Amino acid sequence: MVEYSVNAARRLLVPATRSHVLWRGITAPHGQRTRLFDIDIDDTTVAAASATWISAARQKRKLRAVFANAHVVVEMADRAGYRAVVATADRIYADGSGLAVAARLAGHPLMDNVNGTDLFPRLVADAKAAGVKIFLLGARPGIAASAQQRMTAFGLGGAVVGSHHGYFAPGSADEDAAIAAANASGADILLVALGVPLQDEWIAKNAHRLDASVTVGVGGLFDFFAGSVTRAPHAMRVIGCEWLWRLALEPRRMAHRYLVGNARFLMLAMAEAVRIRVRDLASQRQPAGLAVRAADQV
Ligand code: UDP
Repeated sequence: MVEYSVNAARRLLVPATRSHVLWRGITAPHGQRTRLFDIDIDDTTVAAASATWISAARQKRKLRAVFANAHVVVEMADRAGYRAVVATADRIYADGSGLAVAARLAGHPLMDNVNGTDLFPRLVADAKAAGVKIFLLGARPGIAASAQQRMTAFGLGGAVVGSHHGYFAPGSADEDAAIAAANASGADILLVALGVPLQDEWIAKNAHRLDASVTVGVGGLFDFFAGSVTRAPHAMRVIGCEWLWRLALEPRRMAHRYLVGNARFLMLAMAEAVRIRVRDLASQRQPAGLAVRAADQV
């Protein structure tokens, strides 16, 4: 049995409170789409996203999902091929405070921070209750397996039926073996942790070979649940600064992503906010203009 501290378990299993400065809060209606950065983001909650995946899995309906965070938006701006992969996903979720800030600036605040790390504990619980199977593909050798063991230690075992590491070359026998393992497990939901942008591109490219109904890229999720990377304390997550924690833990790897990337993201978010606010103003004016014209004609 894998050891875990109560504090580590709390950080992983209990979602941080959502700040109302960043997020709109949970209101009806659910699942409407908000267009931001030219992609349609599901305005939904962690709980509803998990329920959507479980229902797709039970109905054997294909569903490819993307967690769109600031890093994803910057990559989309740089690479048209990646933009197309994200834009054509069946579900796109707003992941992290960057997206909350962008949505607020544009005047269309989003409901909830729908990120993989908060979603995972709920998903495994929902999947177990529904008899849905999950496979973990990605991260360094041993990490996904230890994430699976740790979920069992947390009392959340059962739904994860297998795992495979994520270090293989495209078109290699190792890649074939990873796909064969996921398919042989009978998993309905395939979580792929290869990092942005590779994971989403890999899922789109290999979709025809993947038996799972639901496929989604989940970044560093397995590292968090294996305990090889510690998740930020709740207080930092509430104020939207989880990225600062990750930068402090891995400054070399994260410096470019968060320092250069976040500055670029902010520029993109401001430009997008201006574009959306101008569009909203124009559409508010139009009906009044039409009404005047109609009155003139009477
Ligand atoms: N990874 C992988 N194969 C690769 C490159 C990366 O399995 O070829 C894994 C890596 O070990 C890590 C995850 O992909 O577990 C990416 O994590 P990162 O922290 O970059 O993701 P984030 O959540 O920040 O997007």
